[in-house]
Amino acid sequence: MIKKFTIIGSGAAGANAALTLLEKGHKVEMLDYGKLDSAPLEISQTFKTVKSNARLAASFFYGNDFSGINGPNDTDIFKYPKRRPSISTTNLYDNEENTDQFQPIFSNCKGGLAVAWGANSIEFNQDDMIGFEYSKQDIESSYKVAFKRLHVSGPVHEDDLSSIVNASYKFNSSHDMSSADNNFIRSAKLKNKFFLKNKNVLVGQSRLAIDNRLNSDNKCYSCGLCIWGCPSNSIYTPLKTLKDCKKFENFKYINNVKVSHFKSDNGAIKYVIDKSGARYEASNVILAAGAINSAIILLKSFKENKIVNNNKIRSVGLLDTEVIKIPYLSLSKIFKKFTTDKIQFNGLLAMVKNENKNFPLWTQVELLSLGSLIYHPLLKKIPLGVKNSILAFNLIKSMLGVATIFLPDKHSDKNYIEMDFSGPIDKVRYSYTSSREKKVLKDEIIKKLKNYMRPLGSIMISQQAIEAKNGSGIHYAGTIPIRAKKTRGCVNSHCKSYDFNNLHVVDGSVFPSLPSKSITLNIAANSIRVCKKL
Ligand SMILES: Cc1cc2nc3c(=O)[nH]c(=O)nc-3n(C[C@H](O)[C@H](O)[C@H](O)COP(=O)(O)OP(=O)(O)OC[C@H]3O[C@@H](n4cnc5c(N)ncnc54)[C@H](O)[C@@H]3O)c2cc1C
Ligand code: SF4
Repeated sequence: MIKKFTIIGSGAAGANAALTLLEKGHKVEMLDYGKLDSAPLEISQTFKTVKSNARLAASFFYGNDFSGINGPNDTDIFKYPKRRPSISTTNLYDNEENTDQFQPIFSNCKGGLAVAWGANSIEFNQDDMIGFEYSKQDIESSYKVAFKRLHVSGPVHEDDLSSIVNASYKFNSSHDMSSADNNFIRSAKLKNKFFLKNKNVLVGQSRLAIDNRLNSDNKCYSCGLCIWGCPSNSIYTPLKTLKDCKKFENFKYINNVKVSHFKSDNGAIKYVIDKSGARYEASNVILAAGAINSAIILLKSFKENKIVNNNKIRSVGLLDTEVIKIPYLSLSKIFKKFTTDKIQFNGLLAMVKNENKNFPLWTQVELLSLGSLIYHPLLKKIPLGVKNSILAFNLIKSMLGVATIFLPDKHSDKNYIEMDFSGPIDKVRYSYTSSREKKVLKDEIIKKLKNYMRPLGSIMISQQAIEAKNGSGIHYAGTIPIRAKKTRGCVNSHCKSYDFNNLHVVDGSVFPSLPSKSITLNIAANSIRVCKKL
C-alpha cells in the first residue's frame, strides 16, 4: 500500500529516510528550513592555486569580513568564514540560554551538518551498541546500502583496523594518502609485528565518504581543498541523496519551513505546524531535524497538545562526544616539504582499547597532519612575537599533527534539554556536565596513545591539549532515545514514538548511548533500517 510520509529535515537522516521510502514506492513530502550553502570553487582550483592568489585566498579562507580568523581564545583548529551558512552556533529559533555549559553547532542548511562534515565513516559494532535494543544483525543489510550511498572509500586490502571497523563492507576504492601518512602506517605495521603484545592501539587508513571510484563523475582530483569544501562533489553530502530523491515523481521538497510542533488528535499527528502558523497535513511523520531540534519540536508538541502541562519540560537525555585535541610532533618529518595535493582530511585513524566495561571497547582517534593549515592556535603559545612565531611555525609545521580523541558518552539524568514555556518567548536551555568516569577514560586513552606514538618518533604534547567546549563534538544523540519499555519522550526499537502513534524518529536522537565512533554513517544506516520496514 502506498503511504504518504512527511519528513522534517534534509540532513543525513532525513535524506536517507526519503530515498528509502521512495524506493519502496511511497510518497514523500520533505519540510526543511534548508538555506543553500555557498557554491564551491571551480573544479580547476587547488589548495596551491587558491593560496597563491592573495585576494582569493583571503576571501576564501577567512571571508570578506574576516569572520574565519580564530580569535585569541578559540579552541578550534580552524574556523569557517560566514560564507558557509551550513554551520551556526545559534539555533533556528534564536531562543537559547545558558550556552556556557553546552554550545551546540547547528545547520540551517539543505543537506544539514554533513554539507561541511569531516566524512569519517565507521560502522558501530555490537559492542558499541550499548542499550540499542536492536542487534548488529538487524542493521547489517542497511549498512551495506549506507556505505554505497555515501561512497565510502578505505583500504582495499585488510589492515590492522579491519577486524574492529567496517566489518560489513569491502572497499573497492581507496583514497590517496600523503607520503607522511604512508610512512606512519608502515612503521606502525612493523611495530605491531615486533611488539605483538601491544594491541592497545591499532592504526590504519581512515574510512572516508569520499568518492574515488575510477569511472565516477565525482572522482576526487586531489586538489587538497577538502576542509574548505570540495569543488568536485567527491565528498558525500546528503544533497547527493536528495538529487536521487528528485528522480521520483512522488517526492516533494519544501524549504523555508521552520517546524515548531505537531498538532495531534487521539494520539496521532494531524498537522505539522511551522513557526509562522502554517499547517501541513500529515498522515505519517518522520522526525529528522537533528538530535537537538527534533527534541525541541517534540517538547513543544507535548506542551501544545497538553500531553505535559508543566511550563518547563525536559528531554529524556542529551549526549555528545567530548573532543580533545592533542598536538604531536613527528620528528622524522623535520624540514620536509608538506604536499597539499592529497586529501586533507584526517588521513589516519587510530583505535585505542579501554578497560572500562561501561563504555565501548574502542575509542576513536583521528590523526591529522597540519601542514596545509594556514594558522594554528599553537602559534599564540609561541613566545616570540607574531612575526617570529609565524616564521617558527612555518619551519616546523610539516612535523605538526593533531590527534583528536572522541570520547563516548552514556545517559545521565543530569544531561538534558529543557524548554521553558513560561514567558512570551519559549526558551531552550541545555544542562550538561561531564562525569568523573569520562575523565578517567580520557586519561587512560591519552596515556596509551602517548606510549604508542613515542617509538614511532611522534611526541605528543599533552600539556598543549585543547579540550573543546561541551557541545562542539557535533555528534548529538540521546534526546529521544530507544527504550524497551513505553516511556514518555522515547521510541521503541523500531524508532516509533511512544507518544504519537504515526511518528518515527530517525536522527541521532534515538541512540540510547553514544559510541566514540563517528556517528553519521550510523545515523544513515539506522534511518534506512527503520524506513525499510514502513
Ligand atoms: C565540521 C564538521 C565535521 C564533522 N565531521 C564528521 C565526521 O567526520 N564524521 C561523522 O560521522 N560526522 C561528522 N560530523 C557530524 C555530522 O555532520 C552530523 O552528525 C550529521 O550530519 C547529522 O545529521 P542529521 O541528519 O541527524 O542532522 P542535521 O545534519 O543537523 O540535519 C538537520 C536538518 O533538519 C533541518 N531542520 C532542523 N530544524 C528544523 C526545523 N525546525 N524545521 C525544518 N527543518 C529543520 C535542517 O535544515 C537540516 O536540514 C561533522 C559535523 C561538522 C559540522
Ligand atoms: S576530496 Fe578533497 S582532495 Fe579530493 S577533490 Fe575533493 S577537496 Fe579535492
